[in-house]
Amino acid sequence: MGTAPVGAAAPRRVDILGVPVDAVTAVGALARAQTLAAAAAPGRPALILTPNPEGIMRAQSDPELRAVLAAADLALADGVGVVWAARRLGRPLPARVPGIELMEALLAWAAAAGLAVYLLGARPEVIAAAARRAQDRYPGLRVAGFADGYFGARGEEAAVAAVAASGARLLLVGLGVPAQEWFLYRNRALLGEVRLAMGVGGSFDVLAGVTRRAPGPLRRLGLEWLWRLARQPWRWRRQLALPRFAWTVLRRGRAGGCHHP
Ligand code: UDP
Repeated sequence: MGTAPVGAAAPRRVDILGVPVDAVTAVGALARAQTLAAAAAPGRPALILTPNPEGIMRAQSDPELRAVLAAADLALADGVGVVWAARRLGRPLPARVPGIELMEALLAWAAAAGLAVYLLGARPEVIAAAARRAQDRYPGLRVAGFADGYFGARGEEAAVAAVAASGARLLLVGLGVPAQEWFLYRNRALLGEVRLAMGVGGSFDVLAGVTRRAPGPLRRLGLEWLWRLARQPWRWRRQLALPRFAWTVLRRGRAGGCHHP
């Protein structure tokens, strides 16, 4: 007791329209994740989620989803939208922490610390390639197992049992939003030795080399979303959540950050 490293204490939590987001930098997020992993026990893993404007807007009309998002032990602001909202609401966040960057940091840590990892999600050929790439990029990484994310409701029990049987300590789940959040919430107690479980969205596709992140300058300008939209125009429908999100935040902001509707 009392020996937790500095910087790994529970960070300040910011409320974004009823959804908690932690005020951490990328370095702070890794330190916090490590602390949470050390404190977790089998059957009680720590959950890392990355709420985005789309999920936050859904949670406005879906109290169950709001409860799921509130169950995060570490919640990252994985986009400029959330960082902007925090500033407008008068509760600024220190940085955007892209989920994929914490995922990479966790894989590097797992390789160095000998923690076995399980990768669950994406298409079959993608997750196989992601597992191979992860082992190339993080020498010594122990991949306890991997499986694709198209198991459906009927295959969920088997997918969870495979994770538990693998003995993995770190679980990365990329099923899309909010399927992965629901999956983690429902199955949290059934994941065997897992200490840390994170929702990683489409990060396996990036790790596998199937999709690419925006070039550095666009990322620094906070325009990664625009890059994604240009490359995957069929996703434009989801972006409709953004104006609604902005409008709701501006209204709340004017009300002095109160939470009245
Ligand atoms: N995916 C999956 N099972 C599904 C639907 C999606 O494993 O039933 C995977 C998909 O292959 C991709 C990831 O979930 O690797 C993220 O999906 P999407 O691009 O829709 O991203 P989101 O922005 O919703 O996280």
